[in-house]
Amino acid sequence: MLEILLLGTAGARYVVAKQLRASAGILFNLEGKYLLFDPGPGTLVHLAKRKIYPEKIKTLIVSHKHLDHSADLNIMVDALTEGTFKKRGKVFFTEETLKEGLLLNYLKEALEEVVILRPKENYKDGPFVFRTTSQLKHTAENYGFIFELGDKKLGIITDTAYFPELSEEFKDCQYLIINVVRYEPKEGVLHLSVPEVKILLKELRPELTIITHFGMTMLKANPFKVAQSLSSELGLKVLAAYDGMRLGL
Ligand SMILES: [Zn+2]
Repeated sequence: MLEILLLGTAGARYVVAKQLRASAGILFNLEGKYLLFDPGPGTLVHLAKRKIYPEKIKTLIVSHKHLDHSADLNIMVDALTEGTFKKRGKVFFTEETLKEGLLLNYLKEALEEVVILRPKENYKDGPFVFRTTSQLKHTAENYGFIFELGDKKLGIITDTAYFPELSEEFKDCQYLIINVVRYEPKEGVLHLSVPEVKILLKELRPELTIITHFGMTMLKANPFKVAQSLSSELGLKVLAAYDGMRLGL
């Protein structure tokens, strides 16, 4: 079983800057191995609070360069390599994130491997088997992810504007985690909003959907109420994430 711990559920500048929700990413545990997804600001602190030791985390994925997804990358690498004394860990990130210099060189050398994410590519690290989608529509090079879970699949729809082919990318997923920054769409903002998520869910009809990565308009609308109305309107199981939420798939 894949255990999921949502360390943080903040998205967008204001909610992250004010820490109205934590911005600490998502931790996966499969067969006793950890994968940390999008270590935003505060990840190390929230791991420490839950007594999860960073040196146990061997796999890190940074979906894109934005700081709410990457700010704690360096301190996580420092911690998991025990101050660069132990060569361990794999980081998966975009070429743009690499070129931006988001991972310090002296830390990079302590890692076992740095893997550059490419569109529609398959990856494996320990028990974690996943693939990327095509590049999503965001203000940075960014991909969605699809994890293999036995005969089922978990899709993570990271930061993106809505586009009609988006549902095609995730069509074989029974479970979805969706970054829903906005309550209503806004011209020029390359993030998903609730009406767009509704279109996606109508097409995909997943067994379970978790909405997360909330901006201010979502917090004002109350994510729990949003999830409830999506569930009843679509006849699907939709849950709103909260900081520290755990689930098993
Ligand atoms: Zn972003």
